[in-house]
Order: sequence, then structure tokens, then C-alpha cells
Amino acid sequence: MAFRTEIRPFGRIVSAREPPDRPLRRRSGWQDHGMAEALRNTDDGHQGGRQDARQDGGQRDVRQGDARQDQARLWAELVATARRTVADGLVVGTSGNVSARVGDLVLVTPSGVPYDRLTPDDITGVDLTGRQVLGTLAPTSELPMHLAVYRTTDARAVVHTHAVHATAVSTLVPELPPVHYMTAALGGPVRVAPYAAYGSGELAENMLRALAGRSGCLLQNHGTITYGATLDQAYDRTAQLEWMCRLWLTASSVPGLTPSLLTEAQLTEAGERLKGYGQRR
Ligand SMILES: [Zn+2]
Repeated sequence: MAFRTEIRPFGRIVSAREPPDRPLRRRSGWQDHGMAEALRNTDDGHQGGRQDARQDGGQRDVRQGDARQDQARLWAELVATARRTVADGLVVGTSGNVSARVGDLVLVTPSGVPYDRLTPDDITGVDLTGRQVLGTLAPTSELPMHLAVYRTTDARAVVHTHAVHATAVSTLVPELPPVHYMTAALGGPVRVAPYAAYGSGELAENMLRALAGRSGCLLQNHGTITYGATLDQAYDRTAQLEWMCRLWLTASSVPGLTPSLLTEAQLTEAGERLKGYGQRR
């Protein structure tokens, strides 16, 4: 596979320039991450003995095959989301990162590989402690933030970007002023987590405090992080957050005028309405 040999050296070079927060591990094979459990067929009363063992083995193969298909599907969705962050201008190059959780497995973008070069073979996965269980490329250096979100919330997807308006706002205020009712879609006024070095445990701790009761926050002099029940929801929250930051910067940059802000009561009302928003069948 010529394409593969092209990207491997590239991944290593970039990883070497930006040291990952853990050594590059090479593993082969798959592990059962609990998804197979959910897919387990009920026992249908077949006879015991050697045939049983054969059938069990066959069922295990089927379950592992199903689990691999689930992982492959989620990986394809994750790569598409990562590419969207670049296409929509929320990140430049390989900055930012995306992850998704299934069972106790967290699929995550690898460090320093352009998203348009990621193939199905580049699937990268860690367990909730950060131990690499899938793939050979080093996971994103922002892994501590992603794992902290999964360990403390019911998130199934996390999107981190360096979106320009959001990052600009993170340098100006400790909280994004509620200029729009979509503030309620993120759980309330969006806080700014105090600055700490990228990839550090301290940044993950600051982020968790800023995320309390919210599905997104800003990272001072750094960017955004949002989570959701799906990759689409996490992505959409990032896009809404970036848009609101742009809105506030635009409104607050008119000389001599100050934007009006929503009250807590107005935000609560908007939050209630947003719960029922969408197609009703
Ligand atoms: Zn970052």
C-alpha cells in the first residue's frame, strides 16, 4: 500500500517535532471493549460439548467482527468531523482534535497527521486511562482533556478547536457575555478556563471547572472545547460557540455603544424552549 508508506514516515516526523505526552506504542490485534457484550446473542439451547465450543468460538468471531465494524464506522465519522473543522475554518492545519467514545474505548485523532491523510488503517484508540489499545500512531497531545470529559460526563464525542473568534474572546473576558439565547443551548453563559500549558493535567482540571453545568467552554489563549451525545452534536456546539463569540466581538466593537445582554430568566426560558426545538413527529 503505497499511500500507507507515504503517511507513516510523515506521522513520525511530525510526532517527533511535537513530542507526544506518551511514548509511541505499537500493538497488534484487537481487544474486546465491551461493545461485543451488547451484541451478544442469547443462548438458543444448542447441545453442549465440543460443538458448543465451536459454536461459541464462531459466535465470538461474529461478535468481534461486529465490534470492528462499529469501530470502523465511528472512525470514519470521526475523521469526517475532523475534516469539517478544517473546511469550516475552525482550525488551521493539524491544530484541534476530535474524539468519540464507544463502551470503554475512546477513538481519537492522532497527533500531527493532517486529517485529509487519515485512512481507515490509521484508527487510533485508547482506554479511559489513556492506554493505547488500537493503532500505532501517537494519540493527540490533548488526550488529558478528552479523557477528563469522558470520565466525568456522559459525553460520547468531544471536539476541540482553535477557532479564531472564540480564542480572541478567551483573551478578553472570564466569561462570554450572554448576547444570544443560544447561550442556553450550551447550559448557560460560557466560561473561560484559565490558561495552562497544552496537553497538561492542569489544563484538563481548569477545563473541568469551567465546564460545570455546561457542554462547552473556552480555553484562555488557546481555543474551544465542547462535548455532546454524538459527533454531530459536539461539532454543532463548537460552531454555535464560535458564532456567538463572533457576534459578541462584532456588537461590542461599535464605538460608544454596549451590547444588551440577556437576563438569567430569559436564558432559562430559552433553555426550556430549546428542549422542545426540532421536528415533532
Ligand atoms: Zn489545542
